[in-house]
Formats: sequence, structure tokens, C-alpha cells
Amino acid sequence: MRTKEDHMKNGQLKPCYNWQFSTNNQFVVNYTVTQTTTDTTTLIEHLESHKDQYGSYPETATADSGYGSEENYQFVEEKQIEGFIKFNYFHKEQTRKFKYDIFRRENHYYNPDQDCFYCPMGQKMQKIGEGKRKTSTGFEQKVSYYQAQNCQGCPLRWGCHKAKGERIIEVNHNLERHKQKARDLLLSPEGLEHRKQRPADVEATFGNIKQNKGFRRFMLKGKHKVEIETGLIALAHNLSKIRA
Ligand code: SF4
Repeated sequence: MRTKEDHMKNGQLKPCYNWQFSTNNQFVVNYTVTQTTTDTTTLIEHLESHKDQYGSYPETATADSGYGSEENYQFVEEKQIEGFIKFNYFHKEQTRKFKYDIFRRENHYYNPDQDCFYCPMGQKMQKIGEGKRKTSTGFEQKVSYYQAQNCQGCPLRWGCHKAKGERIIEVNHNLERHKQKARDLLLSPEGLEHRKQRPADVEATFGNIKQNKGFRRFMLKGKHKVEIETGLIALAHNLSKIRA
């Protein structure tokens, strides 16, 4: 993995373990150790681990945008977990620049009855097909393609697209539905509370373990041993919280 500790300043890759912690009022309530380089694919395993320990899934889960994938949204929906999970662009889409960018696909009007979009010139973009693809975990995603009818001589062509022919956009409707659900939750008063609580809760826990207690490197190697070491660290952290 690439790490923040880059003493050689060359983006050197290092052997690492990926820690996932759930906290409640800065107490570690669940942890998992994975060997994936990104956080996205770790959420389901982490929530399954919660269920193994407590007999049920948590009622709510708050996570940053590194976890906002269609697969994760689908999972929390199916398990009836209220997911306060950001997605890429959650903050960016609230800026004026994003909102008033007429060329962004996200700002094109969609007519669900006719299953078509309208481009900035008001041309109907009709559906021309569907496609499927699989993520690295094997999760299948369905996307739809919509095409403008005639981009020749359009006065907005300069800012709209660089393709030779007519503009084609790709939309994952299921992901868009999940994002709307997440957006509504995140922007609600309860969502704001969760968003305020998240960094003060879990980031403070990581900060205490890594910065205050000086834990920067595992003493053991091998996933199982690292899980045990992580458990001991979590236990020590929780006990010191009780003492405090
Ligand atoms: S370039 Fe094509 S898609 Fe873009 S605004 Fe013009 S007609 Fe619409």
C-alpha cells in the first residue's frame, strides 16, 4: 500500500494491513483486519463481523465517502441498516460550481416515464442500450446508455463533449437511487449529527492509538496474528477510556 509515511518521498509501496474500526463514543465496538488497499470492499465483512459478535446488524452505520459504493449501499438496504454513508462528490455536488454546470450529466433532466434525458440544448437523449459489468468483488452493476440525436453544429458543443459523433452518457440507475437515499439521510438533521459525530468518534480513537500511544507498526505478521494484536490494542484502548 501507499502510506502517509513516505520518508523516501517516492510513493514507495509497503506491506500493510488495513484496519477497520467501529466505535461508539470512542469505545472500539468492532474491528476487522483486511489486506485490501482501499476501504470500499471492507464494509460488508466489517458489518458481518458485527453481526457475528452481537447477533444482529447495527441499526445505523456512519462512514465516509471511501465506503460509498453501490454494493455497500445495496447491502445496508437489504440488511435494513440506516446507512449514513457518503459517496464521491457528496460535498462537491453542493457547490455552486457543480450545481450550475449545465454540461454535467448529473444536471441533465431525466424523464422516468419516457426513460430519457434532456441535454443542455434541450435535445432528447434516448436510451440506446444497457450493459453489465462486475466489480473486483464480483458484484454485478447494470448501466444504461443514452444518446443525443444530433450534435452537429450545436453552439454548446465546445463545452459539452469531445466525442466525434453524438454525445452518449452512461447512467447506473440503481446507484443513483441509492445515492439519493444517502443524500436525503446525510442532509437530514439526524444526518448532520452523525456527520459531526463520526470524526470526533472514530478518528479520535485512531488518533489516540496511533499518535498518543505511539502505535505505528505491528509487532506480529500474518493476518490472524495481526487480528489478535489489534484486539489487544482495542482492549487496552477501551480499558484506558474506562479509567479516564
Ligand atoms: S453537443 Fe449534443 S449533447 Fe451537447 S448540448 Fe449540443 S446537442 Fe446536446
